Amino acid sequence: MRLFPVFAAGLLCSAIAFPSIAADSLLIPADVIYTAPDSPPKRNGAVLLRGGRIVSVSDERSRAAIPKGTQTSECRGVVVAGFQNSHVHFMGPTFGGDASRPAADVEHAVESMLTRYGFTTVVDTSSDLANTLAIRTRIEKGELRGPRILTAGWALYPRDGIPFYLRDLPKQFLDQLPQPRDAAEARADVRRNLDAGADVTKLFLHTSPDGKSPRFLSLEVARAAVEATHARGRLVLAHPTSLEGIRGALAAGVDIIVHTTLGESAPWDDALTRGMVAKKMSVVPTFQLWPYELAKQHVPQQIVDKLVGATLEELKAFKAAGGQILFGTDVGYMNEFDPTAEYVFMAKAGLSPMEILASLTTAPAERWKESARRGRVEAGMDADLVVLGGDPAEDVRNFTNVRCVFRAGKLVYAPSESK
Ligand SMILES: [Zn+2]
Repeated sequence: MRLFPVFAAGLLCSAIAFPSIAADSLLIPADVIYTAPDSPPKRNGAVLLRGGRIVSVSDERSRAAIPKGTQTSECRGVVVAGFQNSHVHFMGPTFGGDASRPAADVEHAVESMLTRYGFTTVVDTSSDLANTLAIRTRIEKGELRGPRILTAGWALYPRDGIPFYLRDLPKQFLDQLPQPRDAAEARADVRRNLDAGADVTKLFLHTSPDGKSPRFLSLEVARAAVEATHARGRLVLAHPTSLEGIRGALAAGVDIIVHTTLGESAPWDDALTRGMVAKKMSVVPTFQLWPYELAKQHVPQQIVDKLVGATLEELKAFKAAGGQILFGTDVGYMNEFDPTAEYVFMAKAGLSPMEILASLTTAPAERWKESARRGRVEAGMDADLVVLGGDPAEDVRNFTNVRCVFRAGKLVYAPSESK
C-alpha cells in the first residue's frame, strides 16, 4: 500500500505549529469509527497513530491537529479495534518446523489464516510449544508480519486420553503430550510449560481416545493445574466436550471453556449457566467447527441443523445469564480459515453486531486484564486496528470484509500487497 504525505497546511484546522516532523505518524481516515462496542460511532473522522499507539481519534466535528510530515493511509473505511481470536492452533503441515522455513512462507500462512481476517492477537490453545514460540519470536523480531501470539503450549490430557482426532499427528508430537497421573505431576507439567514460555494453561477435561469410551481429567489433577496456573497470575482454558466436562471445569476453577458442547441430550440449564456466570467463566462458542466436524462423518443436513441449533441455544442461555463471550474458531485445527460463518452463527444465537465486536475486542482485553492498553479505538491505546470495507452493524459478514490491518501502528495486512 502506498502512503503519501499530508499537505499539513491544507488540513490543519488552526495555526498550531509543529516544530518536528512526525516521521512515524500515520493518519487513517475513516467513514465510521467504532471506538468501543458500547459507544456511539464517530462519522467521517480519522485516527492518528504514532509510536505504535493511538494519538487521537476525531470525527467531523472535532478535527484533530495533524503534525507536519504525517502520512495518510490510502486504506479508508470502517475502523474498529484489532480483533482477538481466542481459539487457534499453530499445528499441522501449515505451521510445522517454522524455526527453519523461509519467512515469506510462514508469513503467507499466518496471513491466510489470521491477519487477513483482522486478528491482531490470537490465543493458540495447544500446540508444540517450541515451534509456536519460534513463530512468535520471528514475528516479534520483525522478520515476518503477524499477530501477537499468546500460547497454551502443551495442553494437559487425561491418562491414556489423547483424543481420537489427534491420532493422525506425528508420533514425536503425540509422545510429548502431558497426561499427568496425579496433582504433583499436573503442577510440574504446568510449571514446565509456563517456564518455557507458555502464557496460559489448557486442559482437556473429557476426551474420547477411541471415539466411544470417555476419559476424564480427575478433579484433583484439574484443580492442581488450575492452582499452579493461577499462582502465576495466568488463565486456564479448557476443552469441555460435554456437560460433565463443563461441571468439571466449574469445580476446578477453569476461567474459559473453548467450545460450546455438541450433541448433548439436554440444553445448558439455568443452574449450569448461572454457575458459569457466577464463577466468571467465559465461553468461546466455535460454532463453525460443528458443521465442519459433522461433515467429516457425513451427517445429514437436517441433523446438522438440529445439533448446531442446540449449541446456539446454549450460548443464548449463557448470554441471557450475563456471561462473557470470547470470539474463537479453532482455526489451525479446522482448515476452513474464513470465519464469516462464525459471525453468522453468533448473530443467529442472538448476539448483536456490537456484542460480536465486544467478543473480538473489549471482552478479551478485559479477560486478559489489558483493557487499559487494547480493545478500544481511543487515544493512548495500542494502535491495533482493522479497517473494514463495510459496516458490521448493517451486516455481520462485514467483519470479514477486511481492507487492511494495523498492529502496533504497522501495516500487517493489505490485500493490494498480497500475492
Ligand atoms: Zn482447538
